[in-house]
Amino acid sequence: MNTHEPEQNIRQPELRFGYVADLYYTVTDTPVPKQLDLLNDWFPSLIITEEDSNKLIKQAPEYIDTERMIHAVRYHNYLYSGGNNRITHITGKLVGTAFSNLEKERKTAELIQKNIARKIVNEMDVLPSLIDSIHEKISCMEQETMEEFHYTLYMFCLMCAEAYYEKDEWERDTELFPFDDEVFDQVIYNAFYQLQKYDYEGLLNAWLWLLCGSLLRNECGRVCRTYDSSFVPLYKAPSETGHLLDKLRYLVMPEEYESIYTGNDLEDRFPGIEWYCDHCNDHLNEQKGFTDHLPVWQCRKCGYLNPISAEQIYETAEDHDNDIRRRTEEDLRSAIARRKEETGS
Ligand SMILES: [Zn+2]
Repeated sequence: MNTHEPEQNIRQPELRFGYVADLYYTVTDTPVPKQLDLLNDWFPSLIITEEDSNKLIKQAPEYIDTERMIHAVRYHNYLYSGGNNRITHITGKLVGTAFSNLEKERKTAELIQKNIARKIVNEMDVLPSLIDSIHEKISCMEQETMEEFHYTLYMFCLMCAEAYYEKDEWERDTELFPFDDEVFDQVIYNAFYQLQKYDYEGLLNAWLWLLCGSLLRNECGRVCRTYDSSFVPLYKAPSETGHLLDKLRYLVMPEEYESIYTGNDLEDRFPGIEWYCDHCNDHLNEQKGFTDHLPVWQCRKCGYLNPISAEQIYETAEDHDNDIRRRTEEDLRSAIARRKEETGS
């Protein structure tokens, strides 16, 4: 039983970089770095270029428009951030915890977001190096801290989704770096899905989604579209209303939801289910003579014996890979029975 009140770990359920990063520092009980270091810690070399220096001279950072990069020097152990108001405004907007209405620097920050999103998508080594730097920090956590971190992210996703949809459409559309609702939904859903895996990799992925979503905001849509294939597309997640919170609830308590079958194939044992060989991945439904009434089907391509039963059915290929199970025999049977009643067959 976790003795912490979730609210204690979560200051603000807002998908903005400063708030998200803060979850890590709260859980690990370490001080939050100043803005330049904070950005550079989680997105190394994507926003800030560190200039050579003897680390003893303060030199104001500089933003180079054509590079969309901030050049800064290290003063003792910190990236020196004084002496340039423009940088203060740009980083304040990226971190998202300080608001001002300098339109020019809002636009600059947005150009930086676009640039990072594009690099994540187009440059092969960017995503792996982001994951490495996250791994470096998360892997140092004690088991107990890691569990608390998992729980904190879990609650954050739920509260963040709730807070977002408590705002009306006008508020959502006019806030700083507004999201398309679909992009917001996808980021939160992907993070939450990864947390449902309850393993280390899932925790890293969830944290990466939250970091990217909160820093890049709507520009994260580009990342979502590229990495879509490795995540469950939202439209495939069944829920009664299609609302994000409903979809999250479904991940936690699939048993509260019923499958619906809308097809007309009522002869098969598992209508509408596509079977793939567990060994060679060949599409079994297309193999000559295939019937799902057999308890086992021997793959005609590789000879592997594939069990054909409700236990083998997953909502998506991603669920199969993560062993996140959605369907039960009973659920499938009742969906088919309801369809039979509907169609009078
Ligand atoms: Zn096979």
